[in-house]
Amino acid sequence: MMGRRKSKAFAQENQSLVPCSSGTESARVEVEDEAMEERVESVSLDDSPLIGAENTSADYYFDSYSHFGIHEEMLKDVVRTKTYQNVIYQNKFLFKNKVVLDVGAGTGILSLFCAKAGAKHVYAVECSQMADMAKEIVQTNGYSDVITVLKGKVEEIELPVAHVDVIISEWMGYFLLFENMLNTVLYARDKWLINNGIILPDKALLYLTTIEDAEYKEDKIEFWNDVYGFDMSCIRKQAMAEPLVDTVDLKQIVTSDIMIKMMDISEMTSGDVSFTAPFKLVAERNDFIHAFMAYFNVQFTQCHREISFSTGPRSKATHWKQTVLYLDEVLTICKDEVIYGNMTVEPNKKNPRDLEITIDYTLNGKRSQVSSTQHYKMR
Ligand code: SAH
Repeated sequence: MMGRRKSKAFAQENQSLVPCSSGTESARVEVEDEAMEERVESVSLDDSPLIGAENTSADYYFDSYSHFGIHEEMLKDVVRTKTYQNVIYQNKFLFKNKVVLDVGAGTGILSLFCAKAGAKHVYAVECSQMADMAKEIVQTNGYSDVITVLKGKVEEIELPVAHVDVIISEWMGYFLLFENMLNTVLYARDKWLINNGIILPDKALLYLTTIEDAEYKEDKIEFWNDVYGFDMSCIRKQAMAEPLVDTVDLKQIVTSDIMIKMMDISEMTSGDVSFTAPFKLVAERNDFIHAFMAYFNVQFTQCHREISFSTGPRSKATHWKQTVLYLDEVLTICKDEVIYGNMTVEPNKKNPRDLEITIDYTLNGKRSQVSSTQHYKMR
């Protein structure tokens, strides 16, 4: 599931109007591709010309997944989509004569892969208007007897079968957990997956490191201190509190990486989406640190040979990019010095699609002695 996702999530906050609560405005997310940015921006309440006969602009505004633009971005993310395709086509034994549930089917692409790989039946559940397109796509491609598209929320629909053998889903958001769709997958698992059934992907790993980012911090954060001669630093505070989704150059990394959280999708409970984890990051050179940076990897360990992909800066870029969390203080760190800390991640109590992230850290170095707590909110 998508800066995307400026896009995977740029719908309005009013949950009651979001048919499947696909997310809230993620204004900070940078979009590399200007054309995409324009397209995404143009989906606003004032922009009726974009909209088809049966849907109003509000439908799209409040439910970003109803518009094809976000699906285009996801489908064109080759790392993402090809990995799922390889998982399915190279491991037909997982699908042959099996009943599959596609959680959040979008255009139906994963269901089509599964059908082609020999699944007995695929239930494709999608809550946005895109479900109508998925139905048509399934029909056009001659899979109507194998794939049943169900329009509605996973939490609300009835499946015509009591159990499924396989659950497949692309639920990952920025910083892995933004949008909190993982809970929808866990709900489906607990309700329909047979004992020893397979869930794809089955592991997600969140990583943390630090970066030098003077130039961009100046541009995105310090900018607010002096705007055409005026002090707008009250906005600086807000900018600081919002994780920035953008690509980071490998050369910016200052310390070691740490795998801060491993989520086992076949075992975990919805409570495990909230966690506190300690970290220890060792400086690889003398440098300045402006931010923490997070990314995630996804694994399909049930495959004949394990398949995975990474959204980290060492791998080909994906639409998830990386997530940058700026520090109030610039750290002057010397090679081999260590930053100790804890990271807490939890869904916002009022709006569980929003993420609260807290990092406390200590550096007792030769040139910087800092102990601080920083709060971030992803929305
Ligand atoms: N599987 C598609 C789409 C992934 S994006 C692909 O890989 O291209 C995630 C999709 O899940 C979105 O289309 C979104 O509308 C849908 N979704 C999110 N929460 C849902 C829920 N609770 N019930 C049904 N669909 C949901």
